[in-house]
Amino acid sequence: MLQTLSVRTNTSTEFIDITSQVREVVRQSGFSEGVCHVFVPHTTAGVTINESADPNVKADILMVLNKLISDKESYRHLEGNSPAHIKASIIGPQVTVIISGSRLLLGTWQGIFFCEFDGPRSRKVYVKISVS
Ligand code: ZN
Repeated sequence: MLQTLSVRTNTSTEFIDITSQVREVVRQSGFSEGVCHVFVPHTTAGVTINESADPNVKADILMVLNKLISDKESYRHLEGNSPAHIKASIIGPQVTVIISGSRLLLGTWQGIFFCEFDGPRSRKVYVKISVS
């Protein structure tokens, strides 16, 4: 089962918690055991799993990424958004979560975050549920 989520981002770089939308796809699938693949089909965005309880964690990750990947390098890519491409490669385009007992086996503090690096834009996220 494949479903496409729409994500509207509001700023140039931000993390958006999509855990509840992914949980809804799992619920609709009716699968009790399996795996949930979350894939972002963009070159300047990604997806990651990290703490969702304290919003300062995502803010800190973004702060350090923005510090590490400077806007001031002599990038060759003419579109001018090389920092976004580099951040997207560091974070990666996919995560996989185990489904057991009809639930995503995320840790207590974990959430799934869409990571925007070149917004604001309208984005897509593919969620594929399969039997393991
Ligand atoms: Zn580009």
